[in-house]
Amino acid sequence: MSTASLNTACLRYHSLPLNKSSSFRPFARLNPSPPSFSSSIPNLIQNRPVFAAPSPLITPTWREDMGNGSYEEAIEALEKLLREKGDLKAEATSKVEQITAELKSGGEAAKPSYDAVDRLKSGFIHFKKEKYDKNPELYGELAKGQSPKFMVFACSDSRVCPSHVLDFQPGEAFVVRNVANLVPPYDQSKFSGTGSAIEYAVLHLKVQYIVVIGHSACGGIKGLMTFPFDGKYSTDFIEEWVKIGLPAKAKVKSKHGEGELGELCTHCEKEAVDVSLGNLLTYPFVRDGLVNGTLGLKGGHYDFVKGTFELWGLDFSFSPSISV
Ligand SMILES: [Zn+2]
Repeated sequence: MSTASLNTACLRYHSLPLNKSSSFRPFARLNPSPPSFSSSIPNLIQNRPVFAAPSPLITPTWREDMGNGSYEEAIEALEKLLREKGDLKAEATSKVEQITAELKSGGEAAKPSYDAVDRLKSGFIHFKKEKYDKNPELYGELAKGQSPKFMVFACSDSRVCPSHVLDFQPGEAFVVRNVANLVPPYDQSKFSGTGSAIEYAVLHLKVQYIVVIGHSACGGIKGLMTFPFDGKYSTDFIEEWVKIGLPAKAKVKSKHGEGELGELCTHCEKEAVDVSLGNLLTYPFVRDGLVNGTLGLKGGHYDFVKGTFELWGLDFSFSPSISV
């Protein structure tokens, strides 16, 4: 297939509904018998939005002093803040003194109720003892280099780590995580972070698949569905980022109208994955990989409430769908 015909396919994709007859079709569905609601959700997992958009998560304060300049300017602004805000001064000063004391004494000063250092330390000790030391062959190979088969886009949400959900071993997946697992379109100045990861994965690591995985109860997608996008931003970064998924929001609104927000969000979680797959086609090296048959694109959706995983493919080889 030529690049030109691939571009045509790309354009055609945007007008296609997500169904089994389109080029994006369900590839596999891993759907064990769903356990009862009460028994299926571990205590630590709470099925509620990460943030309640459109209200900002953190009300920005003194923004004019912070965030517009360099690191040095930010430090200066912080010092100014400590000087000027009398009510904060005592608390902030005491915090600074505590941190300074901890640094001086090697961390032996008064400990907070949750000891982050202990948690990180015990976590690494466990990993080293149970995994690293027990798999010298694997880690010996990884010391020489990496050749992951997958590049994965997943949400930053703490509940959806792809290495846990898909049992990836170290070296298997080159992972990018961001709010709402979005892939922005090719833009060398605006999205160089994502672009550099895709370029490195495709051209240097030569991954065989790029997988974009959405998930249930995604706070970023809820933001996308509820932020007004009327030009008045209430967040520093979140609206600007999640608006990458606006084509998905438009599609959901046109197909499902003004339905119940939770349902609309579920639709949008999947549609946004398809927008990201479409955006991947704007990267020339991704198109080349597809044309040459060295690269495949997959979309997925992990539902951590039901315990299910859905996978579908952007299929240019016309191979039959597979159901598991
Ligand atoms: Zn999310």
